[in-house]
Amino acid sequence: MKPFNIEDVNRLSVALAQQEEPIVIVPHVNPDGDAIGSVLGLAAILRNAGKNVVVISPNHFPDFLKWMKDSADVVVYVNAREKAVKILAKASMLICLDFNHLSRTGEMKDLIENWKGQSVLIDHHPYPQGFTDLQFSHPDYSSTAELVFHLVKAMGFEQSICKEAADCLFCGIMTDTGSFNYNVSDPQTFKTVSELLSFGVNPEEIHGRVFDNYSIDRMKLMGHCLSECMEVFPEYHAAVMYLSKETQKRFNYQKGDSEGFVNMPLSIQGIHFSAFFTENDDQIKASFRSKGEFAVNEFATAHFNGGGHRNAAGGEVFSSLESTVERFRKLLPEYKKELIRTQQE
Ligand code: 5GP
Ligand code: MN
Repeated sequence: MKPFNIEDVNRLSVALAQQEEPIVIVPHVNPDGDAIGSVLGLAAILRNAGKNVVVISPNHFPDFLKWMKDSADVVVYVNAREKAVKILAKASMLICLDFNHLSRTGEMKDLIENWKGQSVLIDHHPYPQGFTDLQFSHPDYSSTAELVFHLVKAMGFEQSICKEAADCLFCGIMTDTGSFNYNVSDPQTFKTVSELLSFGVNPEEIHGRVFDNYSIDRMKLMGHCLSECMEVFPEYHAAVMYLSKETQKRFNYQKGDSEGFVNMPLSIQGIHFSAFFTENDDQIKASFRSKGEFAVNEFATAHFNGGGHRNAAGGEVFSSLESTVERFRKLLPEYKKELIRTQQE
């Protein structure tokens, strides 16, 4: 993996050492296991080092992550705008984790864009926008959590890593690699996990907290989506699944219930490109996954106002669910060559 720029590491450690005012840490909107794991892991480590840290999330995060240390103290911007603005007014440093584009900050976009204090980005997505003073952009890392772990060590904070922080960082790596299924070809990732385990992390326990924590409604919704809302296109090695508001209502949908659904069609023999569309009040959220060479981030950027990683990307469109799915169907022939090529590799 690309080594850190030592000057930047030194700059960040000097800046952190001088911090008296609150340090604000922000994940991306609709934060996932890696976003919340990195944010709360880093927050715990910096607090152990005597820093005053506040985490502000642009919106709520899933219940299955609420076991993490100090997760109850996260300020959820959409629920506490005034409080968040006041905290930011007092803060002197802003650390952005697990995103690299202002469009990923939801309703906090203006606040972050107009931030006048020191700003730092720590992230593993490709194509950073470059909106912070310091930037640790490492797309070759499995997850932001893994990056945080190595960065805090590089800054000499190893003594401040506690078991609870290691739990958070382990969770970030586990969720961003699909439980060590993808993005784990670099041996360093398993070495990182091994180091985290030495802090007392129990992988089985963390896995259970995240993945064996579903509601009955969610399991039934999954069954319904698989049987009624999935279309498979074997000739393109692709599949699409969609979730309408009507279905959400029927299964008492809670935010996060469809987490992971986009991956399911990839378990079908011969399928290596999967799309999942969710109907929301104001937009259609798109999620894409692939196996192998097919670059879903390019697909998401070209057609769905999005981006992400080669094998995991997302985006959004302002259209109806039906027309979005239809648009997806119509796009497939354009990509036939790439999709077939991927299969042969
Ligand atoms: P998910 O499908 O889990 O929502 O997102 C997978 C990945 O795609 C995220 O880690 C993020 O990198 C990227 N992503 C998701 N939604 C968007 C979006 O609306 N815009 C951009 N640029 N990237 C997204
Ligand atoms: Mn991530």
